[in-house]
Amino acid sequence: MKRYFMKKSGKAIMAFGLMAVLAVSSLAGCAKKDATDTTVATSEAATESGTTTFKAGTYSATVTGMHEMTVTVTVSETEITDIQVEHQETPGVGEPVVDLIKDEILEIQGLGVDVVSGATLTSNAMIEGVTDCLKQAGLSEEGINELLAIKKVVEKEEDLDLTADVVVIGAGGAGMAAAVTANQAGKTVIVIEKSSKMGGNTILAGGALNAVDDGSETAIANKDSVENHYNQTFDGGDKAGDPVLVRTLVENAWSGVEWLKSLGMEFKDGVFTVTGGMWPRAHKPVEPEGTGFFKTYQSYLDSSTGITMVYDTKADELIVEDGVVTGVKCTGKTGNTVTAKANNGVVIATGGFGQNVEMRVKYNEITKKWPTLDETIPSTNTSGITGDGMLMAEAIGANLVQMGNIQLLPLGDPETGSLSGNIEHAVESRIFINLEGNRFVNEGGRRDEMTLALFAQPETTMYIVMDSDTYPEGNELNNFGESIADLVASGRALKADTLEELAKLMNVPVENLIASVEDYNRYCKGGDLEGQTDAFGRTLFTDTDGVNNGINDGPFYAASRVPTVHHTMGGIQINENAEVIDTNGNVIPGVFAAGEVTGGIHGTNRLGGNALTDTVVFGRIAGTSASNFVR
Ligand code: ADP
Repeated sequence: MKRYFMKKSGKAIMAFGLMAVLAVSSLAGCAKKDATDTTVATSEAATESGTTTFKAGTYSATVTGMHEMTVTVTVSETEITDIQVEHQETPGVGEPVVDLIKDEILEIQGLGVDVVSGATLTSNAMIEGVTDCLKQAGLSEEGINELLAIKKVVEKEEDLDLTADVVVIGAGGAGMAAAVTANQAGKTVIVIEKSSKMGGNTILAGGALNAVDDGSETAIANKDSVENHYNQTFDGGDKAGDPVLVRTLVENAWSGVEWLKSLGMEFKDGVFTVTGGMWPRAHKPVEPEGTGFFKTYQSYLDSSTGITMVYDTKADELIVEDGVVTGVKCTGKTGNTVTAKANNGVVIATGGFGQNVEMRVKYNEITKKWPTLDETIPSTNTSGITGDGMLMAEAIGANLVQMGNIQLLPLGDPETGSLSGNIEHAVESRIFINLEGNRFVNEGGRRDEMTLALFAQPETTMYIVMDSDTYPEGNELNNFGESIADLVASGRALKADTLEELAKLMNVPVENLIASVEDYNRYCKGGDLEGQTDAFGRTLFTDTDGVNNGINDGPFYAASRVPTVHHTMGGIQINENAEVIDTNGNVIPGVFAAGEVTGGIHGTNRLGGNALTDTVVFGRIAGTSASNFVR
């Protein structure tokens, strides 16, 4: 007899025999070695009434998580008997959450499942899809509300004391690079992660990683060098970045790529220009988005010993003894206290604060760079990226620098702010068109300039427009593993054989779109070379076999985009050894920081493709420094 049926009898508690072990650790992308198995017992919410039963049958609903998904629910008169989901959610991000939520709904026969941190869109879509199906099965609003009130009851576990040589806080790109590096140096490592999986924002990134193999054929062919990378990074951040840190970043970038390759990570041949990257020097992993990094780190975990992943555990407070950071106090999933102590160093790698609206608004007040960063502006970040590491470090005297430098992208999904659904492959082959059908900015320029220009457009909305050169067959994938055919079918992208038809679909004046494209095509044909320059100063154009061929081969594609908070460049001040600096300019012993939680590398504007480089370069440095730290 299942939950919903029992409610009719008004029974208050139903023990499911207990000890259902919620195997958070079994999620794809999680380590096999978890310190905390979370024990939960389920109980029925004490609800009255519950007069509705289901109309037995199978029902389907189409909903949107990171991508479109179809949820199919089978019910008997008294219970939910099966849930099937067709989806393309990102491996290691949304994908494991689909199963987690499905299993929990079936187990508790209720809808009061928690949204999984880091996979909010997928979680909500799952709940919405099942709810929709149950409504089709005849469940009233009242019945839905009753099911929403049914939750797992979690029993608080015992407090836990853990010790390792190195403690890493945050299992995103920088944290995992630090953890693996420390382990390679022979250290035992504990990784504390607030969500139920590794990946952080890094796994959602487009995957572009800037690195120059100085003197290589690729670098020479692209007229690129480490020096050029340095200059563009430093100048691109308005010379506000710390020159020593910028140097450290660019000079160690290529060895970072080689290190990843030595761990088994695969990259596509050649380099490309990522939006705001300013130059073709981005390496693209074979796996979509940032998933390749975590497949690589996971396979390292699988084949090594000494790294313990502690998921669903939030670091709250650094432990300081005699002026030295020795560990971190955390809250475990069941509300218990988890204390992780380090024999050597502690690494903070908790990412930025893109999802902390209060901090966004507070620090934007300093620079007033953006018209607003309140809750109306979405973010590409996962929900757990809330500045925790910065606040923890600030509380022990660390210096936070350049906190007002907040990066937005002009590439957010209008509904969610995520980068998924972005149809561009590379800067050279697409233009931005506002709702009046006009170009408005150099689409090969800096991220901040492009986004500020977008804020000034009608409805703060634009379309990315390109032709079939990017999608010759019409079913190729974008940079986020989505097929253009699926994006068109779900209405997230528009496709038309002619520009006239495309303009109609976009609801922009036909003559303006055509004039914009014709004008742009003139520059592609070498307008620049003939002494004319693009009206917006653009210099990066499509160049196939030496021919700049513009936007002229139908079918044509367009997709709507809005500003979205992407990266917070400010954060904890560090030196080139990733040591944390206090407000008096001194090193705080025992604590190191890497990745987006740090500040002062990227200055006012981060070059596209430099964030992943940052995680690998400074993650490795922090892992080494923490390993070498002796009290
Ligand atoms: P980076 O790119 O700098 O590596 P990411 O965003 O990829 O940053 O990863 C940061 C990780 O830190 C995320 O997985 C996030 O869930 C985790 N995190 C954030 N705050 C905490 C916290 N208080 N305790 C533990 N983990 C945290």
